[in-house]
Amino acid sequence: MNKNIPFLDLGAMNAEAAQGIAEAWRAITTESAFIGGRRVQDFESQWASYCGSSFCIGLSDGTAALELALRALGAGPGDDILGPANTFIATWEAVAAVGARPIAVDVDPVSLLVTAETLGNALTTNTVGAIPVHLFGQPANMTEIMAFAGRHKLWIIEDAAQAHGARWNGQAVGTFGDAGCFSFYPGKNLGAFGDAGAVITNSHRIAGFVRSFANHGRRDGHADIHDIIGNNRRLDGLQAAILSAKLPFLNSWNARRRNVHSWYRQRLGTQVVGHTPDTRAVSVHHLEVIRVCNRDQIRGQLTELGIGTGIHYRIPCHRHAAFENLAVPAVPVAESAASEILSLPMYPHMKQEDVEHVCDAMFNLVSPFGASKSRIFRHAAA
Ligand SMILES: *Cc1c(COP(=O)(O)O)cnc(C)c1O
Repeated sequence: MNKNIPFLDLGAMNAEAAQGIAEAWRAITTESAFIGGRRVQDFESQWASYCGSSFCIGLSDGTAALELALRALGAGPGDDILGPANTFIATWEAVAAVGARPIAVDVDPVSLLVTAETLGNALTTNTVGAIPVHLFGQPANMTEIMAFAGRHKLWIIEDAAQAHGARWNGQAVGTFGDAGCFSFYPGKNLGAFGDAGAVITNSHRIAGFVRSFANHGRRDGHADIHDIIGNNRRLDGLQAAILSAKLPFLNSWNARRRNVHSWYRQRLGTQVVGHTPDTRAVSVHHLEVIRVCNRDQIRGQLTELGIGTGIHYRIPCHRHAAFENLAVPAVPVAESAASEILSLPMYPHMKQEDVEHVCDAMFNLVSPFGASKSRIFRHAAA
């Protein structure tokens, strides 16, 4: 029986937060504080305290967060910066935007996350820093990555755009490195009603630079004194107010995502990316990713059945025309994963019966392919 199951459904979250969102809208209309102002400051301090960092600077989007963190750390032409081959292109764009060179890093075959070892294999003599990505909501092993960075005198920017509230060893992601970058794009675990982002940091200097750069290079508190050549990357008051209205629900939404994940995990076993997480890792399951053979056929059939899916990401960053002139070290794990990964429906209010429906549909695809489970699934499902 067909049943439409969307890839992502934001409606139930908006409904839960509806009262706060209505109040946010009223506040912005009466205060007319559209850019900057109290609502932005409120959200910045709420997000800093949620993560456990000293400073938070609200920004226009997550890509700006990465770019401004890179600028604050002085990254520029001649610098090599390590980043996973399998990330959203924004991680690489930010590196290119400051004139530095992204170096593709391979990943762990189970989690598809960078590790101290894969970062080490990609080191070049001009490497100044690394951007581990907490992909799909899973925290990277920051204990080992920070030790690696210390040994090689590298800075670390955490791309936490998919991992709001994820924890490694009891500590929120984004607070291990020199800076942590978040996107509040609507589809992220904490999403605005448009583009939004933030940098968190414990460094007064980095915070000051990012805040100034995002606000036309202004000196703090001075509308007409410009100390550096900056740009306009500010967070809107309206987006900040909406984020503040939704933040109180983030922990319960992440807990719901963990339930949804456990239902998938029960049915799909070792097909699920990150099926054996480290005990120190608390994922927030931004995406539910599995690895399958015949990925594109399976995806096509699920689409016909009304089940929404995605691929994160179909093409490794260094394979895009935009980055074709880069020298790329071998990244065999990321390359082979790219043709096998499939993102299944995942959102906080997804029902167990819908997860069952998606999994049943996957298993029913076995006969049309005239194949055993092992031909569709990479490993026999547990
Ligand atoms: C979403 C995302 C970004 C960029 O965020 P925007 O707000 O869309 O600019 C960066 N990195 C990763 C891994 C992302 O998923």
